[in-house]
Formats: sequence, structure tokens, C-alpha cells
Amino acid sequence: MANPPSPRELADELRRHLSWHESEGTTQAWRDAKAQAPVAVKAQVPAAAPAAQRTPVQAPVAKAAAAAAARPQAPESAEVPVRTLDEIRLELGDCKRCKLCQGRTQIVFGAGNPKASLVFVGEGPGADEDAQGIPFVGKAGQLLTKMIEAMKFRRDEVYICNVVKCRPPGNRNPEPEEIAACEPFLKAQLASLKPQVIVGLGKFAVQTLLREETAISRLRGQWREYQGIPLMPTFHPAYLLRTPEDKKLVWADLQLVMKRLGKL
Ligand code: SF4
Repeated sequence: MANPPSPRELADELRRHLSWHESEGTTQAWRDAKAQAPVAVKAQVPAAAPAAQRTPVQAPVAKAAAAAAARPQAPESAEVPVRTLDEIRLELGDCKRCKLCQGRTQIVFGAGNPKASLVFVGEGPGADEDAQGIPFVGKAGQLLTKMIEAMKFRRDEVYICNVVKCRPPGNRNPEPEEIAACEPFLKAQLASLKPQVIVGLGKFAVQTLLREETAISRLRGQWREYQGIPLMPTFHPAYLLRTPEDKKLVWADLQLVMKRLGKL
């Protein structure tokens, strides 16, 4: 007959047991580990809860875990709740979330087909857009319309919007806090549209979408991804008005998009 374990062996065994529970993420079962199924205890303990906020195990743990499991769970990837464009516009309201509201004539939310396979995202409205409430209607907008038609789309088949919805005074660049205030609405628009391809127009739009500061001259022409949607960075049409010799580079980028959308 084997000798009964010594107090030291019992202590070692207990340490190993607790260490296993900790490695499984179980941190609250110490008071009454025998009474709780490990999986039920684990469901009760959010892994990210700071130690100071942890509370002792509450009975009945198994019942609470079962109720939690029965609740419908949002898919983990759904960072932005999907709403219609009208709902998003309604939420934006007469927005005063940043100081760009002070100089605008009107909000330029976006325009086009809510079921568009192709979405263009620019930086912000200029004077013409501010006056008309429609994105890309000035000279740069007219060039964008030509680009869209050259891609074998009609302008009303695609969707066009900007990172910021109000005109920066004197057409200055949007400031980081203005972008931060307005970006949730762009995100919501793109989540609602779910296009097959996004074309990012110019440095600000692309850097905002990609969250990186690489120069647009290096980013353009390379497929990237935004929330699982293929993104093609390219130059802004306003830049092309100043630098027409780079139109061929943009055309090469747009041809990649056409190929992806079955237009080539
Ligand atoms: S730029 Fe965007 S966040 Fe700022 S006031 Fe206009 S709509 Fe609101």
C-alpha cells in the first residue's frame, strides 16, 4: 500500500492545480474551485478586467454563463454598426462636433448609389462643394467625373464622399482633431455601402483610411485593404490639375481597379 502524500507533496500538487487554472484564464475560482465547472467560471471572468475590479464568484455561475451563451452575439469583426446612409446622415444632423462647422455653408455628406460597387473617398469639400452640398463638383470634381466615365461607369453608379464633411477655411488641410471628429461617419458610410473597391484620392484620404503616414507617391498603385475591402490609393484630381503629367500614373491605378471590377 502506497504511503499517504506528505504535506509538502500536497502543497506542490495544489500549486500545480492552481497554476493550471491560471494558465486557462481562471482567476476567481479560488474561493470554491470544487463547486464550479472551469468553463462556467471562465465565462464569468472577463479576461481584460483589471484585478482591482474583479469580484468573487457569484452563485449561480453556471446559470449566468448559460444565459450569457444564449444571448445573440455580434460578430467580432463588426466594429461599426451597419446603418443605412439616411440613418447615418440623420445622426450627423446639424453637426458641430468640430470647428469646421463655423465656416461651412452646408454639410457635404456624400452622393451617389447606396449600392455602389465602387466608392471614391477624397479629403474634404472645396468652395463649389460647400456652395452646392455635393462632393467633387468643382474643377477637380469635373476631372473626377471624366476619370469615372473613362472607367466605364456613370457618375451616379458610384458613390463619392470625403473624410471631412465641412469645408476647411481657405481650403487648408483638415487638422487631426477635425479628421478624428468626422471619421466615424466616413467609417459608417463605408460599412453601409460595402463596396467591392474603394479608391482613396490623395494623401489625406489614404492616410486616414490606412492609418499610416507613408507618402501617397509610394502608396499609389498598390492594393491595400480597408476593413476587408480592397483599397486603391491614387493621386487627388486637384493634384492632377496642377501636375497633368501624372495623369498616366492615375490611369494605370484606375485600370487595376477596372480589372478587379470586370471592366477590362
Ligand atoms: S467636419 Fe464633420 S465633424 Fe466637423 S462639423 Fe463638419 S460634419 Fe461635424
